[in-house]
Amino acid sequence: MADDKFDVIIVGAGPAGTTAAITAARAGLSTVILERGEYPGAKNVQGAVLYTKMLNDVIPDFWKDPQAALERPITEQKIMVLSEDSAVQVGFKSAQWRKEPHNCYSIIRVNFDRWYSKKAEEAGAQLYTGVLVTDVIKKGNKVVGVKTSEGDELLCDVLIACDGINSLIARKAGMMDDWRADEIALGVKETLFLPREKLEDRFCLEANEGATVEMFGEITKGMLGYGFLYTNKESISLGIGCKVSHFMKSGITPYALLDQLKQHPVLRPILKDAKPLEYSGHIIPEGGYNSMPPLFADGIMICGDAAQMVNPSHREGSNLAMSAGKFAAETAIEAKKKNDFSSKTLSLYQKKLRDSYVIPDLFDHKDLEEEVESRPELLTVIPDLICRSAYEYFNVDGRPKRDVQSAILKRIFRDRAVRKLIKSELTFSNIMAMGKKALKGALKFKSLAKEGN
Ligand SMILES: Cc1cc2nc3c(=O)[nH]c(=O)nc-3n(C[C@H](O)[C@H](O)[C@H](O)COP(=O)(O)OP(=O)(O)OC[C@H]3O[C@@H](n4cnc5c(N)ncnc54)[C@H](O)[C@@H]3O)c2cc1C
Repeated sequence: MADDKFDVIIVGAGPAGTTAAITAARAGLSTVILERGEYPGAKNVQGAVLYTKMLNDVIPDFWKDPQAALERPITEQKIMVLSEDSAVQVGFKSAQWRKEPHNCYSIIRVNFDRWYSKKAEEAGAQLYTGVLVTDVIKKGNKVVGVKTSEGDELLCDVLIACDGINSLIARKAGMMDDWRADEIALGVKETLFLPREKLEDRFCLEANEGATVEMFGEITKGMLGYGFLYTNKESISLGIGCKVSHFMKSGITPYALLDQLKQHPVLRPILKDAKPLEYSGHIIPEGGYNSMPPLFADGIMICGDAAQMVNPSHREGSNLAMSAGKFAAETAIEAKKKNDFSSKTLSLYQKKLRDSYVIPDLFDHKDLEEEVESRPELLTVIPDLICRSAYEYFNVDGRPKRDVQSAILKRIFRDRAVRKLIKSELTFSNIMAMGKKALKGALKFKSLAKEGN
């Protein structure tokens, strides 16, 4: 490396790091990205759906670039609730999503990260691949650089940690401990080749359009998690992920879960003759707002997965990472103007996250997983009941419709799990407690925002 002191060092060339690099380099800051992979994307796994808004903020009209590594613009999104042999699905398909800019695209991270990191280099950032950062360098309390596995020491005014869920940088900087098993999920994914025409026929897609399916219910065997299926140009990304603590408790292996998903009678015909191309697995942060480490300290900011910025209930992570990378770089630019890289100046990063959708969304979903976990019937009995009721509703067996419908309703309301759920939810004190909790949350959020935290 030509120089060993830079304005900004960024660890990790994922969506967070590359966005930070583009933003900082464009403003004229000397910017270095250090990436452990042989090339950006080499080690990265995502479903993957990418929302356009956040990328468009950084690279306007990016979809017009013929090199842009995009698979299909998504025009249909479905949610499927599966029992052992059936599925109920709801979906949304819209001609509005055919218009540019599309709402989101399917992508393949290996290709996308390579293309995106070239944009950072074009903006003037120096990208070094095959470089594993092993530690931070501190002067007193301030982070002033990094050490690499090759024994190099590089100095900077600001370090932006975008190193994903391993969060080595934040740990080495003393900002957090290891993640607990209930703060992370493990996702496994298979990419299956299917010729373009077959794929479009099976999903009823017009040429080049894409579809997504999120799957819940029996497929996760009572564990908290979900499956996904996304259409690429000539392949399908099929995956499933559950909380690591649940995998540990159940003893079920992620690959067994994925194999069973492929054999589900509803999915089997969709996947017929699809040829496995690649298998991958990756950890996903699921602790959300409650698990976020401090986001900044003297000389350092933490972005994306490294700071638990994932909203799993909305399948969002890469967009939060991009927004965080952009805000961190904008903060570094302000800090450079002031020549002050203290935590006081870098707190602007957190303010930007609070003023955007990132922290509000994470805050609003902070207790969701716990609430679902406390009602295990939502993951087991209820999906089965939904499918059984649908079967009865659509099945013609000679009974008058009114008898069929009342039998369905009786079964639903007599079901022990449903009664338990209704009883636990609809008590007067529970409704009051929910109201109080929502109010308390809103007030706490307001007061934190006022304090600039
Ligand atoms: C199975 C699965 C499906 C998902 N599906 C979706 C989806 O459909 N949509 C969505 O928005 N999000 C999805 N996510 C989440 C999304 O992938 C992440 O939120 C996103 O990648 C976070 O970006 P990042 O830049 O923070 O981290 P990463 O993308 O993980 O990038 C971190 C980078 O840092 C590098 N690195 C790590 N440590 C070091 C080190 N010590 N030295 C040098 N380099 C280092 C890594 O090699 C990597 O390139 C999914 C995740 C998984 C696992």
